[in-house]
Amino acid sequence: MADQGFIPFCLPSIGEEEIQEVSKALRSGWLTTGSYTARFEQEFREYVQAKYALGVNSCTAALHLALAALGVGPGDEVITTPITFCATVNTILHVGATPVLADVGSDGNIDPAAIASRITPRTRAIIPVHLGGLPCQMDAIWKLAAKHGLHVVEDAAHAVGTHYRTIPIGASQASPRSAAVAFSFYATKNLTTGEGGMLTSGDEQFQEKARRLALHGISKDAWNRYSENGSWHYDVTECGFKYNLSDIQSAIGIHQLRKLDGFIAARRHQAELYHQEFCNIDEIETAPDSAEARNSWHLYIIRLNLKELSIDRAQFMLEMKRKGIGASVHFIPIPQLSFFAPWAHLPQNQCPRAMELYSRSISLPLYPGLDEAHAKYVAHTVADIARQHRKRAIPARVREIA
Ligand SMILES: *Cc1c(COP(=O)(O)O)cnc(C)c1O
Repeated sequence: MADQGFIPFCLPSIGEEEIQEVSKALRSGWLTTGSYTARFEQEFREYVQAKYALGVNSCTAALHLALAALGVGPGDEVITTPITFCATVNTILHVGATPVLADVGSDGNIDPAAIASRITPRTRAIIPVHLGGLPCQMDAIWKLAAKHGLHVVEDAAHAVGTHYRTIPIGASQASPRSAAVAFSFYATKNLTTGEGGMLTSGDEQFQEKARRLALHGISKDAWNRYSENGSWHYDVTECGFKYNLSDIQSAIGIHQLRKLDGFIAARRHQAELYHQEFCNIDEIETAPDSAEARNSWHLYIIRLNLKELSIDRAQFMLEMKRKGIGASVHFIPIPQLSFFAPWAHLPQNQCPRAMELYSRSISLPLYPGLDEAHAKYVAHTVADIARQHRKRAIPARVREIA
């Protein structure tokens, strides 16, 4: 398949519908947050079964808003995973709180037992991250949160369309057990608006506070209700941010949302194809999955069995590149990043399992625009690289002598 060109790690799926809708939004004369965003919020809220949804300009903004609206701040500790994008930890620092890392389990998600070991009298919140679209063990996390009076804010950047058991991530159940859930519509994510995000919750007061904070802390209601001042008048009641989602972005999002189930089905199909190819190869561990969940398959992360291979992860990825396949690593653990290192290397933040998994993880191309032939090429080629670099088996007799 030398003639196919390079297979990129990631490509967005933007169709004519999105392009037409953006043109319509541009021609409408209203570019910033307006009717398109209101509609996108409404349809998104219905899709994930949330009581409230707030469109914002990124998942980072959603996480920051959630912590700010919950009043998490200086002196508080927030527990999260070392295997996440830096934004998760940055937002904890943005509100002046102290991030605390709890190690992951073999599926790459934060381990509830590790969370339990990190809880102190200062702990205020937990931010689980559903890595690659595989949900965390939320029942155990909610139980810990209830026991210790902690807020749960889910980083669902990968998990739009994920179901935990049978319930969508983001859903407000009879008694919502997460204070808020943050979604990302960044260019590489399952649903994209170029840049964008959504914050869902089940609590009206939280939602109103987050909405106010997302737009400078401006309050119109109080004045309009009690004075003769016209619609031009407003008050600023707190120090807010500028995190609103524009109508241009929402015009894209409305169509992406309608296609999302189809996108996820295509991703699942490719994941199954990879699984079939790798499940009999000792050198490769297939991506973790759970029968209890609907995985959104944002990422397909293999783990190399380095004991069986004569090459390391870097060499393996170089071989993939030589064969025309793009790949990535999710994520460089937080302690490996120089800004976080001094704090993350403290004994109370040690995460040996995350470090071990990182050294052998590779994310393979996985997106609706990847056709079957290319997906098969990726699967066969990755399997071939593993076979070619299999450590030579040492005959039993030689081992005995040694
Ligand atoms: C992409 C990502 C974010 C940040 O999303 P933005 O919308 O780009 O702010 C946060 N957390 C995780 C795990 C991500 O992958």
